[in-house]
Amino acid sequence: MKTLREYIKEAEEKGVAIGHFNISNLEALHGIYAAAKKLNLPIIIGLSEGEESFVGREEGVALIHTFREQDNYPIFLNADHHKSLESVKGCIDAGFDAVIIDGSKLSFEENVKITKECVDYARAITKSTGRDILVEAELGFIGEGSNLKDTVPEGAGILTKPPEAEKFVKMTGIDLFAPSVGSIHGLIKSGKPHIDTELVAEIKKVTGVPLVLHGGSGLRDEDFTNATVAGISIIHINSEIRLAYEEAVKKFIAENPKEINPSKILQPAVDAIEKIVENRLKLFNHIP
Ligand SMILES: [Zn+2]
Repeated sequence: MKTLREYIKEAEEKGVAIGHFNISNLEALHGIYAAAKKLNLPIIIGLSEGEESFVGREEGVALIHTFREQDNYPIFLNADHHKSLESVKGCIDAGFDAVIIDGSKLSFEENVKITKECVDYARAITKSTGRDILVEAELGFIGEGSNLKDTVPEGAGILTKPPEAEKFVKMTGIDLFAPSVGSIHGLIKSGKPHIDTELVAEIKKVTGVPLVLHGGSGLRDEDFTNATVAGISIIHINSEIRLAYEEAVKKFIAENPKEINPSKILQPAVDAIEKIVENRLKLFNHIP
């Protein structure tokens, strides 16, 4: 099997993006995995700090490894938006394939410092174990929380400046870069965020590393396709999955108030997630 780095390189060359989907439970993982397998596409599963503490760090790794090994399938695990060096180190040690150190709220200098520490740690582990570990960092501010928002939160959506991005990537030696290019974390009720594809292309040119788009939930279809063509190689989706889960479970319980078997109650959520992920993966890969 190719490494995640090789799959990303391949996506970069093809002008498509690998889907990154977050989970909080096994049902979501089943839905996401079924969609990916149907389309035969590599996939990244994300665990944010909160999701990781709910699922369990070692348990999360065991789950992904089980899927990967039983089908020899390219499914990878990413520590999404981890904010401390300790937490990043813990995830690397546990067996995550990739980590995101999120220092986007820090000053430029502090962000560089903590990111560099994470890169150094990942490289040392690669040297001693041979495991390839990807480190991603973010510059600019995409907002926080995969949730429902009435409007764009204050301070979010500060676009990344290409010269700063270039400097940041050079100084840190990161493998993947998450710029702020118009999307916002969460689902925004009023006004759809819009991706600045010219900015994506410019940042791609000056940094020379694969770019990751966060806050993909709720974007227009053409934003996804344009973003991949402009240089985005991974796209994150979380809020849409959470919403689909919640709506499917709520509907089933309302319609079947006497049902108490979780495998029955949760099946519609698995199906709803599969549908969303299939749709998103097709867009990311220009599949009609
Ligand atoms: Zn994100």
